Amino acid sequence: FSLRHFVIPSHYKDDVERVLIPHGMIMDRVEKLAHEIAADTEGPLTVCCILKGGHAFFADLVNRLKKCTNAAGQNLPMQLDFIKVKSYEGDKSSGNVTISYTEQELHDLKGKHLLLVEDIIDTGATMTALLAKLAEYQPASVRVVSLFLKRTPKSVGYIPDYVGVEIPDQFIVGYCLDYNEIFRDLDHVCVISETGKQKYA
Ligand code: 5GP
Ligand code: MG
Ligand code: MG
Repeated sequence: FSLRHFVIPSHYKDDVERVLIPHGMIMDRVEKLAHEIAADTEGPLTVCCILKGGHAFFADLVNRLKKCTNAAGQNLPMQLDFIKVKSYEGDKSSGNVTISYTEQELHDLKGKHLLLVEDIIDTGATMTALLAKLAEYQPASVRVVSLFLKRTPKSVGYIPDYVGVEIPDQFIVGYCLDYNEIFRDLDHVCVISETGKQKYA
């Protein structure tokens, strides 16, 4: 989509190439995902936000989930949890994953039905490592919802349980997705421009 159709903060006007997914379209996908997830869920759910990139998606998804009912017509009791996972430097995967949970927080996962809320799956390496780590602490079940799934030849083959939108192999920013911590305050999901890359490198 051409940039002139959208409200872009003035400080980012030269830093994005184009809008890939408008904010309104994201909101529609979030609502649909909430209905699908609720329909598949029997009882209490621990919804776990993967920070920082998953924050906007998590907030909007939880708000929708509150209004949804499952197959039995019941609303879902939810506990909300937050985990900081870091794997990227700039637009390259650093290859190693760090997880912020303490041992106590990991042990508290035992027996819980988890829904991990992630912004984007690129190679899938981060999620594969995270799932392996969490499995050691015996949650009752783990499902993953990712707003974006990148089509990339570098994929390790991991596919999340729920996907918002499949995107081409490009580096995207906005709706909490960052480039060196910049662009999280942009509502639309955009492709970064060369100017933007250089400015915030
Ligand atoms: P993976 O391990 O799947 O290759 O990468 C997962 C993480 O890398 C994501 O959770 C996200 O933080 C970051 N990432 C991957 N692709 C992109 C992208 O296009 N834009 C942004 N901002 N982050 C990305
Ligand atoms: Mg992420
Ligand atoms: Mg990031």
